[in-house]
Amino acid sequence: MNENNYRVIIIGSGPAGLTAAIYAARGLVGTALFGGAAPGGQLLQTTEIENFPGFPEPVAGADLMTGMLSQAKRLGARIYNEDITAVDFARHPFTLTTASGQQYSAEAVIIATGARARWLGLPSEQKYVGRGVSGCATCDGFFYRGREVCVIGGGDSAAEDALFLTRFAAKVYLVHRRDKLRANPRLQAKLRAGAKIEIIYNHTLEEVQGEAKAAGVKIKNVLTGETRVLATPGVFIAIGHEPATEIFRGKLNLDDSSYIVADDHTHTSVAGVFAAGDVMDPDYKQAIVAAGTGCKAAMEALEYLEEN
Ligand SMILES: Cc1cc2nc3c(=O)[nH]c(=O)nc-3n(C[C@H](O)[C@H](O)[C@H](O)COP(=O)(O)OP(=O)(O)OC[C@H]3O[C@@H](n4cnc5c(N)ncnc54)[C@H](O)[C@@H]3O)c2cc1C
Repeated sequence: MNENNYRVIIIGSGPAGLTAAIYAARGLVGTALFGGAAPGGQLLQTTEIENFPGFPEPVAGADLMTGMLSQAKRLGARIYNEDITAVDFARHPFTLTTASGQQYSAEAVIIATGARARWLGLPSEQKYVGRGVSGCATCDGFFYRGREVCVIGGGDSAAEDALFLTRFAAKVYLVHRRDKLRANPRLQAKLRAGAKIEIIYNHTLEEVQGEAKAAGVKIKNVLTGETRVLATPGVFIAIGHEPATEIFRGKLNLDDSSYIVADDHTHTSVAGVFAAGDVMDPDYKQAIVAAGTGCKAAMEALEYLEEN
């Protein structure tokens, strides 16, 4: 076998891709993983993870991902720190092209390219990501027990995050730039009934303020121009996610929000191409779920290789 030909190629290096690499390599098939210039995925952006099983004490995102990477390498997966920039799924074996123009072929492909939380793009927001500013209430809500937090957004995910955060926070401000929410009516009714929730309409986030960590936000009334400060050390940006699927557009079925459409067994619309993790998961977006679907995808790929 030429060194550019593999039986399984995995695209993406978060928990889904690395778990898939561990299972595929352990299945003793030639496995390569293309993980981008800085492999490790979204967990590299966070300091402490408290909900990944097996770690009684919080584990640093970087440590968890370094462990997964070393494990995949030890088991024989070949790791390339390069992006895949084009795929050809029309002919089998499939062809994948890297950023440097190299071509690789694979009999089965597992896509685990993840999804990025959408950010507003304010410099002060980016400064405090992982230090008070979060794109994931499920991940970080627990750190704000008894404190005040704000959620920025007005759709279903913002409403769900605000409701979820009432479990921990003393008070939840939901800040929305328009005069009505986009969230579905059922969620809106729950928000209105939530004693700890205050909805602030017609306001935008101007600045996250703080020292080493975020301490609060300055928000602006879009009708009057007046500003006010909320002393919320937790700032949850809930304006949606963007799955990393641009290179698969027209090659695989994507849903209306650009997530890869995959069945319960991680099969996509092309036989031999599987998807795992946040890139096919509009609902959960958790590391353990990504790892679980990565395992499934590798097992399905191994079965596909046996049968084809
Ligand atoms: C700040 C933050 C805190 C979080 N905290 C927690 C937590 O406490 N607990 C928890 O369970 N979850 C947490 N999450 C969510 C968790 O990180 C994700 O659910 C998980 O990382 C998804 O894994 P994934 O493998 O699907 O994709 P990702 O982690 O997104 O990894 C995908 C990787 O693929 C690479 N890639 C993309 N396109 C290409 C390409 N074309 N070629 C090569 N590589 C490519 C990307 O660069 C990225 O490295 C957090 C997320 C964030 C942002």
